[in-house]
Amino acid sequence: MSDGAVIVVQGGRVVTGDGEYDADVVIAGEKIVSVGEVSAPDGATIIDATGCVVLPGLIDNHTHLSMPFMGMQSVDDYDTGTRAAAAGGVTCLVDFAIQNEPDQLRSALAAWQGRADGAAHVDYGFHMAITNANQPTLEDMQAMVDAGVSSFKLFMAYKGSLMTRDDALTATLERARELGALTMVHAENGDVIDLLVTRALAQGNTSSIHHALTRPELVEAEATSRAARLAELTGASLFVVHVTCAAAAAEIDAAQQRGVNVSAETCTQYLVNSIDDLRRPGVEGCRYICSPPLRDASNQEPLWAFVRRGVLESISTDHCPFNDEQKARGLDDFSLVPNGLPLIQHRLAKLWDEGVVAGRITASELVDRTSTTIARRFGLDAKGSIAPGKDADIVVFDPNAPKPYGVASSFMNVDYDLYEGETASGSVRHTLCRGTMVYDRGEIRTAPGHGRYVARSASQTPVFAT
Ligand SMILES: [Zn+2]
Repeated sequence: MSDGAVIVVQGGRVVTGDGEYDADVVIAGEKIVSVGEVSAPDGATIIDATGCVVLPGLIDNHTHLSMPFMGMQSVDDYDTGTRAAAAGGVTCLVDFAIQNEPDQLRSALAAWQGRADGAAHVDYGFHMAITNANQPTLEDMQAMVDAGVSSFKLFMAYKGSLMTRDDALTATLERARELGALTMVHAENGDVIDLLVTRALAQGNTSSIHHALTRPELVEAEATSRAARLAELTGASLFVVHVTCAAAAAEIDAAQQRGVNVSAETCTQYLVNSIDDLRRPGVEGCRYICSPPLRDASNQEPLWAFVRRGVLESISTDHCPFNDEQKARGLDDFSLVPNGLPLIQHRLAKLWDEGVVAGRITASELVDRTSTTIARRFGLDAKGSIAPGKDADIVVFDPNAPKPYGVASSFMNVDYDLYEGETASGSVRHTLCRGTMVYDRGEIRTAPGHGRYVARSASQTPVFAT
């Protein structure tokens, strides 16, 4: 659509983070210009949303496209991964660029920019994962913030590769505070996991379930607590990624009650899958290996309650797909299975059914946890809401159009689907990114390169659970 073209999304029920109401949405060019009862101007393109909900485009703030890991690479690139994103109602993602020692952050950002540039169908930004927080790296953080990369991630797990030590974490927290940037952590105690994995393998406990059993809940809760205390010590803002269990979420809750600037997300899979998936035979069990691992199902209702309270303020995917052939490398040794699940396309449909239809959260809370709060937390100032002046990132979702999950209808570049055989009760009809139809009833309409890099703003303000 050319600049200034007018589109009216007509007759739908608009859902925002604040509530829902019947309204039309008028788009001019890349922006939303009005929301309410309007008569469509002459020449406007009409998108009929009768019977549908109209949502701000979802934002996935935790993805790993073309991610190098354990000598392999995740199989969705910025083309296929953002097609799948659009098919799942996602109009913006924030992917992790990773410092490749001994290089500094600038070269990592350039490498990830090169992968995404000209390939993406929806908008994208980057977090920067720091693997060596030495003095030049800490200085380089300023250049990242200037380039619109306003969040930094450290791994407290993956000993021997990505793992950071507490001194480096503390120095990074201090530096990020100076810059108004956000420090993110993967919170698991990597030393203890290393001990438990070595012991399990020595005892011949090599199957997929032992991936989860060697990364118990308390190992996550301990690291979560430690990271929160270091944030408290430094006065920095902390964001804990992929919280999986009640014990870890309780540590976030306690820190928030103390007034620490700590916020956190969970991911779709921890709300809908469980440790039992790792007991599936053969490579099927390997498909469910991610870190931290899927947990006992008794965690799911407590996690939903933390989501409702906002202790867990957002829900992402940690999308990091590997094919069966890659997963199968660890059939005889769970520690060799590449970690990650393919989920970027399924978050909205799954959370709609397990959250909204099941009565655990409202549609408005779903929008808040998957779009509005993410935009605010991560400095995506033009995203996350349906309001005049915002980017025209819009999803038309039909809650009464069932759709089977499965490889046949998946845009994810992976040779299985975690929910094959299940049917979602509703489905995405259209996804617009900055006023352009990217996904239209089963088809991708854009060429690679429609998606643009989004520079994110830096100023972290505390948001506490209520
Ligand atoms: Zn991740």
